[in-house]
Order: sequence, then structure tokens, then C-alpha cells
Amino acid sequence: MDKRIYLCLAHMSGKEQDFIKEAFDTNWVVPLGPNVNAFEEELKHFVGQDKEVVALSAGTAAIHLGLIQLGVGTGDEVICQSFTFCASANPVAYQGATPVFIDSEEDTWNMDPALLEEAIKDRIAKTGKKPKAILPVHLYGMPARIDEICAIASKYDIPVLEDAAEALGSEFKGQKCGTFGTFGVLSFNGNKMITTSGGGALIVPDEASKKQTMFYATQAREPYPHYQHEKIGYNYRMSNICAGIGRGQMTVLDEHIAHHRHVHELYAKAFEDVDGIALKSNPDDRFNANYWLSTILIDPDKTGTNYDEIRLKLDAQGIETRPLWKPMHLQPVYANNPRYVNGVSERLFNMGLCIPAGPWVTDEDVAYIVERIKRCCKK
Ligand SMILES: *Cc1c(COP(=O)(O)O)cnc(C)c1O
Repeated sequence: MDKRIYLCLAHMSGKEQDFIKEAFDTNWVVPLGPNVNAFEEELKHFVGQDKEVVALSAGTAAIHLGLIQLGVGTGDEVICQSFTFCASANPVAYQGATPVFIDSEEDTWNMDPALLEEAIKDRIAKTGKKPKAILPVHLYGMPARIDEICAIASKYDIPVLEDAAEALGSEFKGQKCGTFGTFGVLSFNGNKMITTSGGGALIVPDEASKKQTMFYATQAREPYPHYQHEKIGYNYRMSNICAGIGRGQMTVLDEHIAHHRHVHELYAKAFEDVDGIALKSNPDDRFNANYWLSTILIDPDKTGTNYDEIRLKLDAQGIETRPLWKPMHLQPVYANNPRYVNGVSERLFNMGLCIPAGPWVTDEDVAYIVERIKRCCKK
């Protein structure tokens, strides 16, 4: 094959340019405007649960503004999922607070509720105060055990900020990921389920909180004719041009999700009879992953190879794959942070790969990818 197959390439509906042209024609080339408002309305409708949505410059910015509104500041602790992309935890550090890392459980690869409760009790015992927030992630679009996490959170009266950056459209018991916590985060970076070239959104509980989010996202300007500031603000609003791309993408969001699920289904059939390669799938029918990326675990004993050998071989054959996220508790930058670990995420990191799943991946590509992976296996 002479083409290259990527993990998840952006895919345009064709309507994006119309919305962008409209923005130019009406001279709304600014970080607010009709496309931003319409994109927010469409997202609000999509996620449901009577939430409000604020479009921002990035998912990372959304996490940051969520933490600020939960009052996270210097000296506070925030309980974070360790098995994730760094952008989940970094905004905690921006606030001068400390991420406390929690390992994963086997079924969803997300925050282990038992470890979460152990950590809360231990942090209270050790520091004399409660963690300020709990930050679970729906990694690779697989919903976390969000009911159990929210139950523990409410038992200790700690708010939840859900990182659904990879989980746009994923559901737990029919409810969209990102709508369970006080705040939820979406990302529209180039390789996510949909893209605005770069962008994100904060899902918020109500109109007041939406206003507050917009306030912080636009330099915390107080309502005076002159520029008056009583708080530190940020320049985090989404531009009307990016939101135009987002509106175009909303017209194909359902198709994108259906395609990711279709690709996962094909992988599931194709890997069924391959000993030593386990495709990650919904643990039971309460979970409805968007399968943003399909992921496999490679058992070295059964396959005679390992994830990194496979990655290098596939790369040479034009197939992009990627190791699973390296857990935050193993990252040098967080070497001294408190952690509650059970070995799960480290083991996953040492045997897993993300395999292509984006809108450009065809049925033939899936067959080719699986065939190439099988050829890597020496047994
Ligand atoms: C992509 C991502 C983010 C950050 O989103 P950006 O839009 O890239 O800032 C946060 N958390 C997770 C888990 C992500 O995958």
C-alpha cells in the first residue's frame, strides 16, 4: 500500500467553508459572533441534560476555567486520573494546586472508584482537608465508571470535573459523557472526534455559570465603559472562524461517531481469533463508547512480539499507531506527586497500542491493518 493510514485525521463535511465565508462576508472575524453562538447551541442540544456550553480556544483552557470556578488555587489538591494525556492534569498545576494521581481499573481503563475513595480518606487524614475536585477522564472515548465516581464524590461533597475531551458522543446509561459532573470538557483539536482546527468547550450547569465562564475567558473584564479588572482573566474564547468549522463539523458528527464504532466492530470481528491480541470493548451494555481510537493489548508471551515492535513494523508499512498514554504518575514532571496506584495503567502502557480509527479509515484499511498486525506475531 503506498498511502499512509493515520490514527485519526480531520475530515471535513464541505460545509465548513460556507460558515467561514459567511463570517468573512459579515466581518465577524473575531473571538465571538454568530458562528460561536450557533455552535454552542448545537453542542448544547447534542449533549442534552439541560446543560449550557461555552466554546473556548482549547480543551485545556476548558479544564483550566472549570478548575478556577471550582475554587481550585494554591495549596489545594485535585484528584486526577493518572492514565491520561497531560492536558488533563496540567491545568491543576497552572493553578498552583497539586494533582493527586489515581490509577485505573481493568474494565474501562479509567479512574478506579475504590482507589478514589481510599485516596480521599487518606488525603483528608494526611493534610487535614478535602481534595478540591475530582477529575476523571473518559479515555479513548470509553466512559468511566462515572456513576460510582459521582456517588463517592457526593458522599464526600467534592465536585467532579469530567474530562470528556476524547468522548464526544460517548454515553453511560444513555447519558452523554461530560454531563455527569459539575463541569464537563470537550476538545475539538485536530485529531479528536470533530475539529475546529483547535478548540474546546466547557459544559456548565446553568446560564449563570456560562456567564462566569465567558467572563474568565475574556480577560475578566468588569461591566464598566473603561477596562476595569478585579480578577485575573484569560484570553480563551473561541474565534468565530473556528466556530464556523465547528458548525460544519456538527453536520457530520453523528456520521463520524457511527464510523468510529463501525471500525471498532470490524476490528472486533477480525481480532476474534487472534490469540494474545485483545481489543478494548464496552465492558457491558451500560457503556457506549464512541471508540475515538480503537486500542489493543498485545500479550508478548502469546504473540512472541510486543507493542513497540509492532508499532515500528507498522510504521514502516505506512500505518500510524501510538503507544497508550504514559500514566501521569510515571512522568518525570509529576515524579513527586501523591499517587494511589495498583499497577493497572503501567501494565496497560507497557502492552497497548492505539490503532487507526478515524473517518478516513476504510473497511479495506482495517483488513490490511489487522493482516499486518497478525504477520508481526511470531507464534
Ligand atoms: C485532547 C485532550 C485534552 C486537551 O484538549 P486540547 O483541545 O488539545 O487542549 C484534554 N484531555 C484529554 C484526555 C485529551 O485527549
